[in-house]
Amino acid sequence: MIPPTHFLVSWVIAAESTTTRRDRAIVTLAGAIPDIDGFGYPIENWLTIGWDQPLLWFSDYHHILCHNVGFATLVTAGAAWISKGNWKTTLLACLTFHLHLLCDVIGSRGVDNYQWPVPYLLPFSNAWQWTWSGQWELRAWPNRAIGAGCFALTLWLAWLRGFSPLEMVSQKADLRFVAVLRNWWRHKPA
Ligand SMILES: [Zn+2]
Repeated sequence: MIPPTHFLVSWVIAAESTTTRRDRAIVTLAGAIPDIDGFGYPIENWLTIGWDQPLLWFSDYHHILCHNVGFATLVTAGAAWISKGNWKTTLLACLTFHLHLLCDVIGSRGVDNYQWPVPYLLPFSNAWQWTWSGQWELRAWPNRAIGAGCFALTLWLAWLRGFSPLEMVSQKADLRFVAVLRNWWRHKPA
């Protein structure tokens, strides 16, 4: 799935199962962070060293550096540290991280049919390369449906609970956004 979908899936879980702004941010970012190993995408696709030597930093590193148990351990430890030992937030961060990997295995096939296997045991072993024969394409309708569904849920939760992912950037902007939503749909949330 694309990074915004991972983000929204994780946000919906975080918004429903944690109570503080900090914990929601931890659980949401844990579910989006594996894709930082896709940093080479713009470099590989838009920049080249000469015309015949593209930097293959996307092909070489995506799903290799951060979609594995080693990085999962780092992220879970980071979640425990930032949440000051909140076990529920730590477990949820570990869960959204692994849900990201699962979503990639089921719905991230490339247009070239490459399955982008998840080498889960890295950096300790290359033995496991997770793939699934029923995997659909990154741009297939189930991904669009999940993305649209989570986006709608995010708006609804913002209206209902009074916070949205914007709170991670600015609480002021978040309050304004919620006020606009509640103004559009004037029923008072329970
Ligand atoms: Zn991913």
